[in-house]
Amino acid sequence: MRFYRPTFELAALQQPQDRLVSKLGGRPWGFPQTRWPVCPDCFYPMSMVAQLEHDPPMIDLSLPGGVLHLFFCANLLCLSYGAGGCEAVILRCEEIGHGLTEQPPDEDGNQSNNGEVWIAGWEPHDDPVPLERVSSFYDDGDHMNLPDGIAQPFGFDSRWNTKAGGVPYWTGNGVTLDPSSIACPPFEFLLQIHQMVYVDGAAPPADVVGCTVSIYREIAGETEWEHHAPAKPSASPMSVISEHGAQSYGVDFVNFGSDGTAFVFIDRRSAPPVVRWHWSR
Ligand SMILES: [Zn+2]
Repeated sequence: MRFYRPTFELAALQQPQDRLVSKLGGRPWGFPQTRWPVCPDCFYPMSMVAQLEHDPPMIDLSLPGGVLHLFFCANLLCLSYGAGGCEAVILRCEEIGHGLTEQPPDEDGNQSNNGEVWIAGWEPHDDPVPLERVSSFYDDGDHMNLPDGIAQPFGFDSRWNTKAGGVPYWTGNGVTLDPSSIACPPFEFLLQIHQMVYVDGAAPPADVVGCTVSIYREIAGETEWEHHAPAKPSASPMSVISEHGAQSYGVDFVNFGSDGTAFVFIDRRSAPPVVRWHWSR
């Protein structure tokens, strides 16, 4: 089975956005403010996790020009945090406007934007999972009995936990699908997003990206940390982590319970299709 890993670039290092781009976090492009989802439990406006264009075979919405939006409740005091507070909105091309849409403020006047990374491209990979084992990725009991080399062919390395297509690489908590809302089939796995994504290159300075940049190095078995705080934090909070001298860095762009992964599923029987998702640690 084929799957695709996105490559990312930091929005803070790009020219100001002037068109629709597929991205994680930040503010959506051309999203009608009247459609902005509100959490069913705490009534706070939700926070955007991703805006993804139909781009088969990576993101196949069965809707040319369609755009998928993922939102979640980022209110740590809300009952829906981690449970019901995940929304997906698919818009047709003609519903997308022009310009960035601001998140409506909550009752205290606050916004909860996520850090912003743009998808620069996709790298194809072959999933080593044999076809006869695929159904085991949708059943917790069967999944628990899979050898680690099949259930987690790349270990629990979070670099492999953001991908589109193939089978879901579950976290240490196993298959966290709720079959009463996401039954597979008719739902199919679309993509998963770990809260830390990786960008090629050396970690940028804190003042350039407007967030804390932490650099670590291993010295004689001990990890030494250097934390650099920005003079002026950006409105889309995130943090950057890198090993000293490494040629890639991690971007913690959202808070799925400190180290969680979002799992996104699609039912393509209707037009537009139905997308449901949840996150788990
Ligand atoms: Zn809520």
